[in-house]
Order: sequence, then C-alpha cells, then structure tokens
Amino acid sequence: MNGDTDVLVVGGGVIGLCSAYYLAEQGLRVSIVEQGEIGSGCSGANAGLIVPSYSIPLAAPGALGQGLKWMLQPDSPFYIKPRFDPALCSWLWKFRRACKPQSMLQGIRVLRHLNYASSELCEHLIVGESLTCNYRRDGWLMTYTTERGFQKAVEEARLLQSYDVGLKILKPDEAREMVPTLRPEICGGIFSQDDTHLNPEKFVQALARRLNEKGVAIHPHTGALGFTSSGGSITTVRTTGGDFRARHVVLAAGAWSAGLVRHLGLTLPVQSAKGYSISIKKPEPCPQIPLYLSEVKVAVTPLEGVLRFAGKLELVGMNLDINLRRVDAIMSASKDYLHNIEYPDTMEIWRGLRPCTPDGLPIIDRLPGYDNLIIATGHCMLGVTLAPITGKLVSQLVCGQAPDMDLAPFRMARFK
Ligand SMILES: Cc1cc2nc3c(=O)[nH]c(=O)nc-3n(C[C@H](O)[C@H](O)[C@H](O)COP(=O)(O)OP(=O)(O)OC[C@H]3O[C@@H](n4cnc5c(N)ncnc54)[C@H](O)[C@@H]3O)c2cc1C
Repeated sequence: MNGDTDVLVVGGGVIGLCSAYYLAEQGLRVSIVEQGEIGSGCSGANAGLIVPSYSIPLAAPGALGQGLKWMLQPDSPFYIKPRFDPALCSWLWKFRRACKPQSMLQGIRVLRHLNYASSELCEHLIVGESLTCNYRRDGWLMTYTTERGFQKAVEEARLLQSYDVGLKILKPDEAREMVPTLRPEICGGIFSQDDTHLNPEKFVQALARRLNEKGVAIHPHTGALGFTSSGGSITTVRTTGGDFRARHVVLAAGAWSAGLVRHLGLTLPVQSAKGYSISIKKPEPCPQIPLYLSEVKVAVTPLEGVLRFAGKLELVGMNLDINLRRVDAIMSASKDYLHNIEYPDTMEIWRGLRPCTPDGLPIIDRLPGYDNLIIATGHCMLGVTLAPITGKLVSQLVCGQAPDMDLAPFRMARFK
C-alpha cells in the first residue's frame, strides 16, 4: 500500500496536472499516478495554442457530411478508419445529433465562456507561479487560400463576434502585412487578438516541478489497473506500483479514460482522435505569430528555435502508429499558404490521441454510482486551452464548493 492521500489523480497530462494544482491550492494532499512519463500523452508536442477564439465546437452543421467526403481522400484533414465498433457507431450517432444548429449555438455559448475563463486563469497560473514555458500573447491568424473558405470563415467570425469573441477580419494585404511569409494568393485572414501560445512540453514540465515543490507526490511509470469499491465509494486504486488509497479519485487519463472506466462497468462516450505534429528547426524567414492554415486545418506555431506544424484528426481507435503519408500531407499542404520557406530534411514527428466527446465539450462530473470518483476528460482539440478552468472546477467538485460555472453542460447525463 502506497499510503493514504486526500486525492489521487490518474493521468499526468495537462488536465491531471492542472487538477492537481487547484486541489493542492485547496490545501489537500494530492498524488498523481502516470503510466509513462509526465506529459507523454497528448499533452506533449501539440500546437500549444490557447485559443478562446476557437469557440465553435467540432460538431457543427455540415461537419459530418464534410467528414464523410474527406474519408474518401487519403490526405484529408479528417479520417475515420472503417470498422465495426459499436462504441464508434454510438459516438457518431451522438455527434450527428450535436451537429444540429441549435445544439451548435448552445455549444458556442458554453465553450466561449469556458475558453475565456480558462485563458484568464492560464495567464494567472503561468505568471503567478513563474512557469517558464515561452508564453506569448501574439494572437492567432487564420488564413485562407480559397474565396469560399474565407467567406465561410467571415460568416463564422461574425457569429463569434456576436458572442463577444475578439476577432478582426483582414483583407489579403493586411494579413500579409502581419505575416510577410504568406503567399500572395491568400484570400484573407481572421485575426484573433485574445489568443496566446506556449511551449506545451515546457508548460507541463514546469507545472510538474512546481507541483513537486508544493508537496504533490508524482509517480511516473505507475499505471492504474483497476479499482476496488465498497458502498458506492472507490476505496483503492490498483496500480502497477501497488495499491493507492484516497478519499477522492480524479480520472484524467485522456483518451485512455474510456478503457479505465470499463473496469467499473461504465461506458464513456469518448473516442480517441489521432493528430500529428512536425517540428522543424526555425527557418529563415519564419512566421513570427501562430497561424491556422484553415482549409487544410493545420496549426503553425513558432516556438523558440522551432516551427511546429500540427494537424489531422483520425478516428482510428487507440492506435499510435505514425502514417507518414499523412505527415507528408501536412507539410506539403502548408506550401500553399507559405512561401520562401526552406523545409529542412530533419524534422521531429510526434503524434497524440485527443480524447473527443461527440458534442466537443469536456466531461467534468462525478461518475454515476460512485460518490468519490470524478472524471475530467474529453477536451478534444482544446485540452491545453481548457486545462486551468477544468482543474479549478474539479477542485471545487472535490471540495463540495459551488462551482465557478454551471456544470450541467459537462455532465455525463447529457449523452443519454
Ligand atoms: C496534433 C495536436 C495538436 C493539438 N494542439 C492543441 C492546441 O494548440 N491547443 C489546445 O488547447 N489543445 C491542443 N491539442 C489537444 C490537447 O493536446 C489535448 O486535448 C490535451 O493534451 C488532453 O490532455 P489530457 O491530460 O486529457 O490527456 P493526455 O495528455 O493524453 O494525458 C492523459 C495521461 O494519462 C495517462 N494514463 C492513461 N492511462 C493511464 C493509467 N491507466 N494509469 C496512469 N496514467 C494513465 C497517459 O499516459 C497520459 O499521459 C492538440 C492535440 C493534438 C493531437
């Protein structure tokens, strides 16, 4: 037995770490178990964007039809591996339901509120704890190579502006003035002044170090295997490093969460969606601010010494294989947007599994049937953006305090 603790957090990604942070701030004794290294899941070499502007959920009208069309193109941004999987079928059915206009508008309202609250907390966390992670307030420029793509984006931008999202619609020359490496053929840009970015690997490592200093016990290479319970409470978490006893358990195991709760006879509507990043030595010239190559859905983030391209969303199950054809597609598509950039031969390739819910909102809730088991996952493309507010809400749930915002949109019951 590893001794008693107030809270055991399962998962050392950005969600588990931020949950541990706010739990420790409440004066609780916290331990984290992580099956690999801290940040070795999806919270590693992602694009590192904190994007309150990204407030339209993945499930939006037309998304399923577009996704199905893309399935026929091997290099497309989105891919579903054809297979018979009842969990995937049920997820797609719920996704279809969430694509209705009314659900999307409700999703924007909730996501916008959550995103902005989190981005504010993130700044407090980074500045307040002096976390060295190359945090920058440079905004985010979304760019378009097709008139059709740009006009659709202008409509979406106007919709988001009506929800008070700080966006500026730019003419092609205004976008190119901002980023001279954009090709002359660019049709326009949407600039989001409220977005920031950081180096995600440095962020999780710096936060883990600070947690250590605050007395949080971090156990890497310790995988949770199952649970024992009594009278509706989890009593023990069984791990590869022995049994842990805790008054509360927080499951923040990202794309692995669905598999873990199956041990408790529960089904979690979370599918893993693989994405890739490619980091190259910073070329000269280089975009100075983060970009989004919108039609091909590739994020480009300048980090210290490195330019990172990130994209693709593949519903392929818990499969971490690297599909080089898709990796190459990210790099070649970027050439339609950027010119005068030399791509070196050496690049670092990374992939991560995003935990995705059908409606694009996270799950932050107590698991049904257990009074001391809380789940925090399903952040899909926004886990870095949403980690601080998720951590804070988790800590309020554990402590039985009134949460900073209504938790109804994040409850499991919404999927019934
Ligand atoms: C290409 C790409 C780019 C992205 N870019 C951005 C971005 O710019 N901005 C943004 O906000 N988000 C971005 N994301 C999404 C973001 O990376 C994820 O939403 C976020 O990392 C999810 O965090 P997590 O802590 O839930 O999951 P993870 O980081 O995967 O953490 C879960 C952890 O749990 C551990 N674990 C699993 N099972 C067990 C077990 N049984 N016992 C113990 N530990 C276990 C895993 O090893 C893992 O470390 C991107 C994702 C991808 C793939």
